[in-house]
Amino acid sequence: MKLIVATHNEHKVEEIRNFFKKDNIEVLSMGDIGIYNEVEETGSTIEENALIKARSLKNYKDDIIIADDTGLFVDYLDGKPGVYTARFAGENATYDDNNKKLLKMLEGVPANKRRATFKTVIALIYKEKEVIIEGKVEGRILENPRGENGFGYDPVFYVDKLGKTLAELSVEEKNEVSHRAMALIKLRNYLEKNLEDFK
Ligand code: IMP
Repeated sequence: MKLIVATHNEHKVEEIRNFFKKDNIEVLSMGDIGIYNEVEETGSTIEENALIKARSLKNYKDDIIIADDTGLFVDYLDGKPGVYTARFAGENATYDDNNKKLLKMLEGVPANKRRATFKTVIALIYKEKEVIIEGKVEGRILENPRGENGFGYDPVFYVDKLGKTLAELSVEEKNEVSHRAMALIKLRNYLEKNLEDFK
């Protein structure tokens, strides 16, 4: 069984390939199947964007197609940056620019009002059926970054139940709690239930 990931991000594909390494499934990127064009993310939600990316491969209908999209939703900011998570501080913003903008917008806001959720959605298309799977991690935005690991908003995203930011976790620890990991676990459960030759 082939699972095609609608992305050009080889790091992402490698992570997914690694996740499914014991399963009877071959994980391929768009590059692996010879597709090099970019898909414009024009949706107004992360769910829409994941679907847009997955649908761009709908000719591959004998295979499983997935696409993911992630957003950070801060309660005090009415769910911002949300669909703009990657480009919060502008089209070519760095992770640092985005974190600085976020901390500035939350300046003076007390700890109990800094709740946030990281959410990953995976759009899956198989046999003409579209399914949205989601994974979440709850936390809050710190006033100052902490930790050196991970990427993106990891240094400012504090997970209360662990007493650490995501950037203070090892890769293995992050893979036990992260939004993306939760979504991948649900994806595996779905495939196990719905595909006869998955195992
Ligand atoms: P994407 O949909 O996976 O490209 O993620 C969109 C944006 O969310 C990225 O550019 C990062 O800013 C942020 N992001 C996604 N996953 C993580 C994570 O695990 N930690 C911190 N930031 C993340």
